[in-house]
Formats: sequence, structure tokens, C-alpha cells
Amino acid sequence: MNLSKIILPGQTIGIIGGGQLGRMMSLSAKAMGYRIAVLDPDGDSPCGQVADYKIIGAYGDLDAIKELAKISDVLTYEFENIDAQALDWLTQKAFVPQGKRLLEVSQNRIKEKAEIEKAGAKVAPYKVITNIQDIYDNMRELGFPAVLKTARGGYDGKGQLVIKKEEDISLATELLHYGPCVLEKWVSFKQEISVILTGTQDGEVAVFPISENIHVDNILHQTIVPARISIHAEETAIRYAKQLADYFQLVGTLAVEMFLTEDDEVYINELAPRPHNSGHYSIEACETSQFEQHIRAICHLPLGSTRLLKPAVMVNILGEHQSKILEKEALMKDWKVHFYGKTIPKQKRKMGHVTILCDLPEIAIEEAEKSRIWKDKVEKMLEAKK
Ligand code: AMP
Repeated sequence: MNLSKIILPGQTIGIIGGGQLGRMMSLSAKAMGYRIAVLDPDGDSPCGQVADYKIIGAYGDLDAIKELAKISDVLTYEFENIDAQALDWLTQKAFVPQGKRLLEVSQNRIKEKAEIEKAGAKVAPYKVITNIQDIYDNMRELGFPAVLKTARGGYDGKGQLVIKKEEDISLATELLHYGPCVLEKWVSFKQEISVILTGTQDGEVAVFPISENIHVDNILHQTIVPARISIHAEETAIRYAKQLADYFQLVGTLAVEMFLTEDDEVYINELAPRPHNSGHYSIEACETSQFEQHIRAICHLPLGSTRLLKPAVMVNILGEHQSKILEKEALMKDWKVHFYGKTIPKQKRKMGHVTILCDLPEIAIEEAEKSRIWKDKVEKMLEAKK
């Protein structure tokens, strides 16, 4: 396979998955002159709405994947859980410059933690769990509270159980039906941060400004950039992210989610080998967005500058916020409002996001709070601080 192949504007980029990440990748790619093909089971997916070609089929449907590959000059994906057989076929028969190693590692928390440690970065203390007895046996060492996570398939806190006391252990039976799990020490973090970086086929790496991420109910609520962290924490976070990029010979964009403790220890929580919700701010706030950068990397174009043009605060619009933002959007002339084209505003569903550029993040945070659109989230954040 010719890994040095350059994909030029006019050629077709195939994307597996038609969600908002695929949509924003496509919008960047189309601005650069590429054509987009997308595979998604939904004919009206966020990405399908802006793509040139749509293949309607399940993500694991090998025939549909072959059809996508046939019309695409290069392939990428917008989510991690790509079927193993499909991935094998793709990496052998089609042009997938990102390869499959990092994707396979990120599909399985057990492999992911082991590989992160091999790369020389830290993860929170953890144990691999296959049955209830394993939890009893390891709880003493890890201590309460701990969090049990399925090795495969979880996101936004799904497939997780916080074990606060001995009586909670019996609740783990359900998760263990899904196969092996990891039991992680609860990190009493000061902040959550993420480093997003992109690697090229020539070994070039570019790092985006670190974002500070606030989750409510396990879903990202707000991203603040630049992260309000010490220089020492920033250096450690970037060093770890670069070590991971080097270890995996990163091609494309990778998000490294991290916990930062009071004493500035950095622990890697998880890896997402694709553009990430915490990098949406880069669309307006950086010289090159995470989406353009990803397209550049897979097309073998030189990377752009990731310089921060202005501090920014990004807030997610979930289903429950949509009607409130639609009422106020016209008033918020300085807000950059993005909607992903999803028709049904379900609770907790990511419908869009807002980016507010600012001189001081505190001013934008206050502005978002004052709008009362995210009143539910603000109340929960205050509750959590008590
Ligand atoms: P995850 O699906 O692993 O990204 O977890 C979702 C969220 O749960 C994280 O962003 C944290 O807010 C919280 N969380 C997960 N694992 C831990 C942990 N070991 N210690 C503290 N908080 C955690």
C-alpha cells in the first residue's frame, strides 16, 4: 500500500459514520474542494445531509463498507466502534492512512490502559475484572469509591458503575454480562482537560491548545480554552500526548482525555482517535480547526497552524436546551451557534454547540450562565461543588 499517496481536492473522502463529527469533517473538506461519501444507516444523518454520496447501511455491513471504499480515494471514520472484520478488510483492501492499531486499542479499555502505560504515560490505578469476586478481591487495594467500566462499548458514562460502598458491588452483575471490565480508582480530580493533536504520515505532529472540560451527568457540558492550569501541568499533558502520538505513529487527529489532580498529577482517562467534542472550539478560535487538520493529515497535506486566535468557551446544546436556544439565538449576535441537523431533540442528545469567543473566559462563562439556557447544568455544577 502506498502510504505516501496525496489526496487532492476533487477526490473523494469516505467517512464511516454520519454523525456530527463526520458532518463537521465534511464541511471542512468541502471548503477545501473534496467530495464526501458517507456510510450510515440513516438516510438523513447529520453528515449525509452535507455529503455528495450516501451509502445507507449498518456500520458493520461489509458489503456497504466495500461500496463506500469503491467510490472513495481515502477512508476515515468518525467513531471508534468499527466492526473488527470490517476494519481488517478496510486496512487490507482500501486506503486508510490512520491504520487500525490505535483504533483497535481505543475500542477496548483493557488494551487501552496497558498501551498508554507502555507509551510512558500514567493512568489511574486499575484492575481487570471478570467476575464479582474479582471486585471484592481488589476493592481493598483500590479503595472506595471506584468506577467499574465495561472494556468495550461505553461512552458518555454508559456502561459504568460507581461503587461507593460495599453494598454497591452486587449491582455490578449487569455490567459484567457485557464481558470483562476495568475497575478504576476514583480520581478526585481538580479539572478534566484534553489534548487534541494530529499526526501525519511523515511523522509531523501538531498540538491544539489544551481545553478544560466540564462534564455534567458524564456528558461534556462546557469547554474552556485556554485551560486554566499551571505551566507544569500543561507541559506534562503535552508531553504525554506527544509520547502517545509517537508510540502509535499517529496519523490523523487524536483526543487524549485527562484528569488533573490538586498536586498537578496528570492521568490519562481515555483516547479517541478522531476529532472530539472538546475540540469544537477550534472551528472559530484556532487558525486551523481540528476537522481541517484531520482532513489535511489523511490527505497527506502539510498540517496547518493550531495557534489560538482568541480564548473561547464552547457549550453543548442537548435536546433539552434546543428550544431555549432557538428563542434566544437572534439576541446572541456574538455567539457562534452550530446545529447538526438532527430532527428529534431527545433528552441528552447532542443537537449542536455554541462557541463564544472572548478576551477572558470568565466573561463568556458568565454570559452563558446569564442566558439561563443551561440552568439545569449550572444547578448541577453548583450541587457537585457542595
Ligand atoms: P469516560 O466514559 O471514561 O470518559 O467517563 C466519563 C466521565 O466520568 C469522565 O469524564 C469523568 O468525569 C468521570 N470519570 C470516569 N472515570 C473516572 C475516574 N476514575 N475518576 C473520577 N471520575 C471519573
